[in-house]
Amino acid sequence: MSGAVGVSGIGGVSGSADGVTEYWCEYAWLPGGPAEGVGVDVAGGAIVAVEPGRARRGTTLRGLTLPGMANAHSHAFHRALRGRTHGDRGTFWTWRELMYRLAERLDPDAYYRLARAVYAEMVLAGYTSVGEFHYLHHGPRGRRYDDPNAMSAALVAAAADAGIRICLLDTCYLSGGPDKPLEGVQLRFGDGDADGWASRVGAFRPEGDHVVVGTAAHSVRAVPATELSAVAEWATGRPLHVHLSEQRGENEDCLRVHGVTPTALLARHGVLAERTTVVHATHLTDDDMSTLGASRTRACFCPTTERDLGDGIGPASALAAAGVRLCLGSDSHAVIDAFEEARALELNERLAAEARGRFAVDDLVAAATDHAAIGFDDVGRIEPGGQADLVTVRLDSVRTAGAAPGGAPLAATGADVTDVLVAGRPVVSDGVHTRVEHPAADLAAEIGRLL
Ligand SMILES: [Zn+2]
Repeated sequence: MSGAVGVSGIGGVSGSADGVTEYWCEYAWLPGGPAEGVGVDVAGGAIVAVEPGRARRGTTLRGLTLPGMANAHSHAFHRALRGRTHGDRGTFWTWRELMYRLAERLDPDAYYRLARAVYAEMVLAGYTSVGEFHYLHHGPRGRRYDDPNAMSAALVAAAADAGIRICLLDTCYLSGGPDKPLEGVQLRFGDGDADGWASRVGAFRPEGDHVVVGTAAHSVRAVPATELSAVAEWATGRPLHVHLSEQRGENEDCLRVHGVTPTALLARHGVLAERTTVVHATHLTDDDMSTLGASRTRACFCPTTERDLGDGIGPASALAAAGVRLCLGSDSHAVIDAFEEARALELNERLAAEARGRFAVDDLVAAATDHAAIGFDDVGRIEPGGQADLVTVRLDSVRTAGAAPGGAPLAATGADVTDVLVAGRPVVSDGVHTRVEHPAADLAAEIGRLL
């Protein structure tokens, strides 16, 4: 692994003598919606002034500038599976078998190189933070590395070097199913029990303002009910994420073993709360949705992965109506494109409901920019006091030409991103990553070595 383990983070900004850098956005997506000719002044990595209707001065950002997007759910290594699991049509099990084979081959150095390229791809597509739901903790057969958090450190270093914020959602993964011990490659995921997990995570104290250490319980399948309360208790004050009801089989197993739905089981053990995000939330009952809303839990949808894996379409608007805040993730990275995920939230609903107009564009942008779900509370809005994470998309590509700025998020793709600032620092300029020289070549080389 190369140096720079996020010691300095990704903060800092170059600017004028008084430390302020002035940007002029042709259009900017402000908390009230898109505005024209917006001055945005940045100092010390934060936004210090926002002025719509300003005469052009400073650095011009041509097109539409949005707040940086949050990728609230990622398993970085799954990126290696893209385009490789569809032979002979491919099933969920074809996918999982290859995912496990891949997991067997990764070590901290390889994971650093792969993740750095994946995170570079994310920034190029408009993401300025990632919630890394990380469970590949240990060496082959579960052997601890000299530093038991070596894999976590590799991911944090990869994020620093790719210029993206990271919430390392260190994941508790203890069993292969109800009364089923871990076996095979799963041994690399386990810490014995919740206390073992908590003491390892507690020892991980990375430096840098680009990193937050969060927590996760993998699922009700992988964390026994007897351990859930301990995980929730230890996670107090940190983001806590958990996969929930992605496939109907998980619900059926939970009902058979515990007599309640996974949502009810999580509620019973104190897992659902303001800082908790359930991931997928695809197959829910009305009671489940009320429980999630009443506890102020968030739900993270991963539409491109959910369609890739054939999971189904979750009840996004019903959850929103129940008071659940929505966020988005690219999960297995079958696609990495912040715009595609946001758009799919609406379009999937249209297919399921046979009706248009389920969400306003502003709702989709809010979901796509909810960095608070992964612990970055002051990121995701273009307003004074917020962090200067900005993403500019061109309005003159073949995809976006002619679109109204207010509708551009429904037309743009990650390929239309020209500029990305993270904490005021340019990480993408004119569509080129400023730190990772050849992300595509790096991806090809690393995936070629692994598979
Ligand atoms: Zn996941």
